[in-house]
Amino acid sequence: MRLSFKGGIHPLKELHEGKDKSMHKPIKELVPEKVAIQVDMHVGAPSQPIVKKGDQVKVGQVIATAVGNLGIPVHASISGAVTAVTNRQMLGKKASAIIEITSDGQDEWVELHPLGDVETVPADKIIQQVKDAGICGLGGACFPTHVKMSPADDKKIDTIIINGSECETFLTADHQLMLEEPERIVNGTRAIMRAMNVKTGVIAIEDNKMDAVKTMTDAASGREGVSVVVLKTKYPQGSEKNLIKAVTKREVPSGGLPCDCGVAVFNVGTAAAVADAIMEGKPLVKRITTVTGCVKEPSNLKVRIGTSFQDAIDFAGGFTEEPGKIFAGGSMTGIAAPNTDVCISKANNGIVVLNKKDSVVKSPTGCIRCGRCIDACPIMLNPQKLKELCDAGDLAGAKKRYIMECCACGACSYVCPAKLELSASFKEAKDKITARGV
Ligand code: SF4
Ligand code: SF4
Repeated sequence: MRLSFKGGIHPLKELHEGKDKSMHKPIKELVPEKVAIQVDMHVGAPSQPIVKKGDQVKVGQVIATAVGNLGIPVHASISGAVTAVTNRQMLGKKASAIIEITSDGQDEWVELHPLGDVETVPADKIIQQVKDAGICGLGGACFPTHVKMSPADDKKIDTIIINGSECETFLTADHQLMLEEPERIVNGTRAIMRAMNVKTGVIAIEDNKMDAVKTMTDAASGREGVSVVVLKTKYPQGSEKNLIKAVTKREVPSGGLPCDCGVAVFNVGTAAAVADAIMEGKPLVKRITTVTGCVKEPSNLKVRIGTSFQDAIDFAGGFTEEPGKIFAGGSMTGIAAPNTDVCISKANNGIVVLNKKDSVVKSPTGCIRCGRCIDACPIMLNPQKLKELCDAGDLAGAKKRYIMECCACGACSYVCPAKLELSASFKEAKDKITARGV
């Protein structure tokens, strides 16, 4: 049986969702000569730098400490000398504080402090170790994982979902991780389950990755409470509300969170990072990122956090033609990079290079009231009506029609024959509603 949800689309179906170029490419490790590590990669207050220019650091050493309730530390991802602590334009609207490290070529780690086997380590030590490792959601949200693992006392979680759907176009990083390192994911799943005292862990994978279903099923065999389910390939299957609906048949209440229906969702990469923290004492200093599109060797790279896009693209053989647009992430929800000096953060699951031709954005025309956007919306909103309200500046009206539930998946914009910028309008309206307290 293939689990799914109502609505959604199947973008780039004829090209295997754009994944064909990098699919099944073995993970290759890239250790760059220089990194620029942001201290504001996660949701929450930016971390506080504790190193200065000229300091020598080792891999895994804390270089910025946690600030506030959502805070997590930031660690050096290569060994060498701190060559700058400054501000630099990255993918966000404002410049980010960064710590630049130039490699000494040694790749020398700090002394690590593993807790031990995930099945025997004291459960009450796991969450602090996850926080100390600087782990946040690697699916793109970058919400601090230790906070998600610590719901309020009145929120009883009974199911953990490990998200291996990777429904975004072009990306194959999670797929390859599931093929090559399934044990890490299962160990992380068990660590999360034990820390949260949850008996059920479900690893959910789309049916365009049946080889990963097999590797994960084999790895989960004999592990207490862990099972694998198969999802229908459909976008945005991986967004939390759709995933929860498909796997558990439960609805996240309007304005609520997964914990309001007894579920917590973690990405497969996040689970693997949790395993590394518990079993090896390793903080989060690298992640798997797909580099694809107009590059000579589309790849799945294990990259150090802070590696520049240019270094990653060069490692993938360089451009095959003049790029038109470079996305951080897939083409549905990715952010257009301003240049290739920007660096890979904990959130970056892909670098997708489009050529000039594919980057052309067609001019919008008038809405023809075809209703395709309504059929596509996985949240069952009316994007056509919401667009009218946003264009009229009626934020209160848009809120009444549940614009705050929009998950910014872009499915409505993708199917719109009039090429209206629906999803972008809704994001802007949501930001205004939040800022103005409408
Ligand atoms: S898909 Fe576009 S043209 Fe069709 S109803 Fe929606 S907004 Fe209008
Ligand atoms: S971007 Fe928002 S309105 Fe458009 S399909 Fe996705 S959830 Fe629905």
